[in-house]
Amino acid sequence: MSLHKGKLYWPETIEAPSKHRSLESDQTCDVLIIGGGMAAALCAEELSHTRFKTIVVEKGEVAKGSSAANTGLLQFSNDKMLHEFIKDLGEEKAVRFYKSCLEAVDELQQVAGTLAGETGFIRRPSLYYASTEEDVNKLKKEYEALHEHGFEVEYLDSEKIKERFGFEKPAAIMTHGDAEVNPNQLIHRLFESAETRGITVYENAEVQEAGRDGEAYIFTSGDHSIRAERVIYCTGYETIPYRVKDLADLNRSYAIATSPVADFPEWTYRALIWETKRPYFYMRTTEDGRIIAGGLDEEKMDADVTDEKLERNGDRLIKRIKEHFPDYEIQAEYKWCATFGESEDGLPFIGPHPEKEGIYYCLGFGGNGTVYSKLGAKLLCEMFHEEHDQELAELLDPGR
Ligand SMILES: Cc1cc2nc3c(=O)[nH]c(=O)nc-3n(C[C@H](O)[C@H](O)[C@H](O)COP(=O)(O)OP(=O)(O)OC[C@H]3O[C@@H](n4cnc5c(N)ncnc54)[C@H](O)[C@@H]3O)c2cc1C
Repeated sequence: MSLHKGKLYWPETIEAPSKHRSLESDQTCDVLIIGGGMAAALCAEELSHTRFKTIVVEKGEVAKGSSAANTGLLQFSNDKMLHEFIKDLGEEKAVRFYKSCLEAVDELQQVAGTLAGETGFIRRPSLYYASTEEDVNKLKKEYEALHEHGFEVEYLDSEKIKERFGFEKPAAIMTHGDAEVNPNQLIHRLFESAETRGITVYENAEVQEAGRDGEAYIFTSGDHSIRAERVIYCTGYETIPYRVKDLADLNRSYAIATSPVADFPEWTYRALIWETKRPYFYMRTTEDGRIIAGGLDEEKMDADVTDEKLERNGDRLIKRIKEHFPDYEIQAEYKWCATFGESEDGLPFIGPHPEKEGIYYCLGFGGNGTVYSKLGAKLLCEMFHEEHDQELAELLDPGR
């Protein structure tokens, strides 16, 4: 299955991607992390502060999976609104989950601040607007739920939206506490940092489970084996465990990065912008003055589309940007399409395998994959120390 197709933007922002070693001998570790994307990088960084001897194996090169297609919005608000979660899960669980996501954005900022080199992490508010008049009530409910539970949120009527952004929409909420990042830079910096604290990252090392030796798992890669007490699958949308398969949908999504714009005078705080319609359109700016926009999701999982289709959807996304900001002279310089995984209940899959002790998953399915992966890295690390939040663990349990 191809995870993405087209011309990606982030890989071109990395001047010297870090290279990692090849697996040339048998290894033993406390924790084996499988995967070399955002989830693996965040787990590696988290574990690098513990006593666990940790090895990361990536079958290709790091940061080349779906993380390379990630548009880099870091939002605590979910594709599913807080008031909808409250309806499904009850108030306590829903609020706990939303607060954990907000904390994860704060923690991403803290980690980014410790890394040597650029990550493109910048705090931004989010503008979440009603796509139609019918959605205004939904946004009002969301404003009330967020406000009641202490999230920093403003309700904007159409006049205020026009004043701050220049375009017309029936209503919006502006949430504070979100951020943007360059996902590829973040992954490279996280692995480099983890390596300075003794984590080893192997590239071109595809592994398969090959049995057990007492309590430990044996994985093989080519002629070599890795013996691990615990294993975390950070394999994204490619290697999905059986139970998760029943609870997840794989779709494909499109994104573009435009030519640079000189200035964004009417785009207040260069907020992350998204909407209530499903599938939704969203956009953000980049440090070098481009606009990244995405959406047009389709219920097909393989990202292998024709060049004509990529071209056509690139044009459609430019048109959507211009509906908001008609004065920008922009072209789509980068256009890509990628597989995108979502869970049916809006929650990621983080925690132990339902039957195999010692096997764990950190699968941040959903539009907030990075935030979920950070939340997952911390939760798993706390599980290994037996000091985790039991209720959060039950909520995100892959065997739920
Ligand atoms: C178009 C698009 C836009 C997105 N926008 C956002 C956004 O704005 N914000 C956000 O937070 N999230 C976003 N996401 C989601 C985000 O990209 C993902 O949640 C996240 O990147 C997944 O990271 P990962 O590490 O789980 O997976 P990946 O990056 O795919 O990494 C998994 C890795 O595992 C490796 N692997 C698999 N099997 C094996 C094996 N057997 N042995 C060794 N290695 C193996 C693969 O080679 C791969 O590199 C977006 C996704 C898409 C597609």
